[in-house]
Amino acid sequence: MATGNINVSVENIFPLIKKFLYSDHEIFLRELISNATDATLKLKHLANIGEAKIEYGNPVIEVKIDKDKKQLHIIDQGLGMTTEEVEKYINEVAFSGAEEFLEKYKDSAKDSGIIGHFGLGFYSAFMVASKVEIITKSYKDEPAAHWICDGSPTYSLEAHDKTERGTEIILHIGEDDTEFLEEARISELLVKYNKFMPVSIKFGTKTETLPKPEDAKEEDPAPTQEVDNIINNPNPAWTKQPSDLKDEDYKSFYRELYPMQFEEPLFNIHLNVDYPFNLTGILYFPKLGQDMNMQKDKIQLYQNQVFVTDNVEGIVPEFLTMLRGVIDSPDIPLNVSRSYLQADGNVKKISSYITKKVADKLNSMFKNSREDFEQKWNDIKIVIEYGMLSEDKFFEKADKFALYPTVDGSYFTFEELQEKIKDTQTDKDDKLVILYASDKDEQHSYISAAKEKGYEVLLLDSPIVSHLIQKLETSKEKISFARVDGDHIDNLIKKDEETVSKLSDEEKETLKADLEKIIPTDKYTVQLEAMDSDASPFMITQPEFMRRMKEMQQTGGGGMNMFGNMPEMHNLIVNTNHELIGQIKDTKTDKKKERLIKQSLDLARLSQNLLKGEELTNFIKRSYDMIK
Ligand code: ADP
Ligand code: MG
Repeated sequence: MATGNINVSVENIFPLIKKFLYSDHEIFLRELISNATDATLKLKHLANIGEAKIEYGNPVIEVKIDKDKKQLHIIDQGLGMTTEEVEKYINEVAFSGAEEFLEKYKDSAKDSGIIGHFGLGFYSAFMVASKVEIITKSYKDEPAAHWICDGSPTYSLEAHDKTERGTEIILHIGEDDTEFLEEARISELLVKYNKFMPVSIKFGTKTETLPKPEDAKEEDPAPTQEVDNIINNPNPAWTKQPSDLKDEDYKSFYRELYPMQFEEPLFNIHLNVDYPFNLTGILYFPKLGQDMNMQKDKIQLYQNQVFVTDNVEGIVPEFLTMLRGVIDSPDIPLNVSRSYLQADGNVKKISSYITKKVADKLNSMFKNSREDFEQKWNDIKIVIEYGMLSEDKFFEKADKFALYPTVDGSYFTFEELQEKIKDTQTDKDDKLVILYASDKDEQHSYISAAKEKGYEVLLLDSPIVSHLIQKLETSKEKISFARVDGDHIDNLIKKDEETVSKLSDEEKETLKADLEKIIPTDKYTVQLEAMDSDASPFMITQPEFMRRMKEMQQTGGGGMNMFGNMPEMHNLIVNTNHELIGQIKDTKTDKKKERLIKQSLDLARLSQNLLKGEELTNFIKRSYDMIK
């Protein structure tokens, strides 16, 4: 039997491993199963090239708990190690790997943005075990070896009588880590990290029901048998060629990824590159609601089918983190901080590749089946609009297929919209005026006023729409957006001829003074306008600029804080050509005049949903009094 010292100079590596990686103890299992997988796939390769004269068969990696002995076993049927190989790979290579890792980790630990912790490898076993044994038999014709190390830098290495090929790792679980002797905990970890690993993983057995034999009686129970409980799918959809997959395969893989998700995805994008970096994956567009934050962190990052993390920040562009699915790339550096990651050349290329693929897919859907694309628009617009705001490259592409729905359910691209309204909707400076509403019900009266004049009204209701509008106004020439309730339509859009006021300047002045006596001027700015006689007598509007700044502030970015603190100011537009206004002007008694003005103001507020509480109660009471 040989004994030795691993390396005296770094005697304290084991306590270090425990200390530094405290919160990440669970990754030991991923590391050991990764090693078992590597060993199995290496053997497969050697058998394929004729170097190992063995029957490869259908190897399985087994994970076993021995609760009484407080042991966890990881057993593979891979290529195994000879005594010399244990000396070399475990005592030297694995150790130096662990050492190097800790060197790196010490610095980056301060930077809380560490992603997975790949690289610690075999020695991560000591995070949870007070003693580790390796019993291993090489595929070569040499005796098996038995390595034991109790966490101090000394180990023992001797021969063992194991005859079947492969490696068994035995962890003597430490007192602080007995959770790893619980079946439920191990099962949880296997599902989290190893669900799609390329070699079958067995954890216990399960009972399978067999068909009843023909001569069985009705009351006889169906026969059962115990079979291996395989916890993984070694051939997940993303590792296959897109041409080998049908729509249903993508859907069923989605269900595999998100078993608790009952809604089907809208469509998917299969990623597959091998130059200048390696990346495979499938991204799904789920039906997205309006809440942007709820949707994040559903994309899973893998390296060679080993789960790493579900935080893909920095790798996938921000606006696409609302999607779901899997990305698998060996070319993403993992034991580095996020700030380093974002500066990494490969990662930048990966991020722009993903953006481009998503834009191309959307574009081809738009071109090939416009109707279908329109139907999906409401569920995908938030991603597209967010992308247009945050990535200029994406904006350029999406500008061709981004849709602008109208209140009547037609969909225009920006270009189509411009074409449609160029002769009818311009302002005094010949800018195109794009009218929009954000809520069909609340802005109903304004929408119908605009439609009566033959104007198109868009329905833009996503939470970031004010940002998008701002972006469009700055990146395109001679356009402006105006919400239908932002101003009177005739003030927004140039008409062929001016409407003449039925009132003289003097009459207007008296009227204005009368109105301002009754109307609270700290809330409403009174504006007299000559409009068509059938336009509303009183109309409340909120200046576009002010409203937009407030909205932008609520959804983050843009706008300064002052807008949030400003009192709500509205304009009260009074149509001097309306019969009722003439009547108010001519009313002799002050009391009656006041009543008419109050009632009209309340009606205007009512149509803007601004009449509430006590004022609403009083209004209703007054109205009943008037009609009784
Ligand atoms: P890495 O996997 O990155 O090489 P590890 O520390 O995980 O580093 O493992 C060190 C080495 O020990 C491996 O490269 C391999 O040669 C050997 N090894 C570890 N586990 C096994 C195993 N189950 N079967 C055969 N060899 C193994
Ligand atoms: Mg390893």
